[in-house]
Amino acid sequence: MFGIAIHAGAGSLPRAEMSRERELEYRAGLARALDAGYSVLEGGGSSLDAVTRAVVVLEDDPLFNAGRGSVFTADGRNELDAAIMDGRTLKAGAVCGVTHVRNPVELARAVMDRSPYVMLYGAGAEEFALENGFALVPRGYFHTAERWRQLERIRAGEDGLSAFTISHVGTVGAVALDTGGALAAATSTGGMTGKRYNRIGDSPIIGAGTYADDRGCAVSATGHGEMFIRAAVAHDICARMRHGGRTLAEAVSEVVHGELPAIHGEGGVIAIDARGGIEMEFNSQGMFRAGISAGGKARIAIYRDD
Ligand code: ASP
Repeated sequence: MFGIAIHAGAGSLPRAEMSRERELEYRAGLARALDAGYSVLEGGGSSLDAVTRAVVVLEDDPLFNAGRGSVFTADGRNELDAAIMDGRTLKAGAVCGVTHVRNPVELARAVMDRSPYVMLYGAGAEEFALENGFALVPRGYFHTAERWRQLERIRAGEDGLSAFTISHVGTVGAVALDTGGALAAATSTGGMTGKRYNRIGDSPIIGAGTYADDRGCAVSATGHGEMFIRAAVAHDICARMRHGGRTLAEAVSEVVHGELPAIHGEGGVIAIDARGGIEMEFNSQGMFRAGISAGGKARIAIYRDD
């Protein structure tokens, strides 16, 4: 058995924010990333390689709020966060506040594989990237006209718009189970549109936005990061399976529809367990998501009912 699920953000879905054409672009972007991760698993590759690959494809796609398409901070910068975790060994790597790294998930992976640390921040993370042969990109690489317009609209206080309007979100993540029975999770983001500079969300925090443990499940989250940190969402879901005897579906539902709404935490998660069960659950209006199990048919969805 093997399988993979990905997400690319959750939020509210005002009609005017999503043309049919645009929706098809999102679906195609999700399909490309899912295929990339799936082919790693199909070829006998590890879940760590599969989630890295899928997230790199999403980071390189300017549609999504990670890597190239990252949102802007209130003062017009791009600050990127990412994390990865190996469910077999509980090894993890994370970077936050990086401004020159094209694929932060690969740097997070290098922190896990090539350093004694779990998380590196800002300039230190970028120095580590240089030492490890990563080519850095100029800040302008992350400057997309569309994200800039979104920042301007939010700054102007446009009606009905928030950092969680779906076209403004797009944090990405992947969870996978490989043929060897190992789980992995990865998450990458530009954070929340208009965030204060140096603000760090849940995505790179192990246990909040990202967690994997072969004895439970692998989880990647997206949503209002502050609440996801406070609820330790990814670890809580895993712990409910390990210690509380919950199924994956029960654990995910209790956290996404119970713990999070109790503190006004909007968003969702993707999760996979050691049997290949996949859950993609959210309490917002929509979540960009896709999943596929070995030999099965890919499911690609945005709205609740598709
Ligand atoms: N969770 C991300 C953060 O708070 C944002 C998102 O998922 O939309 O940085």
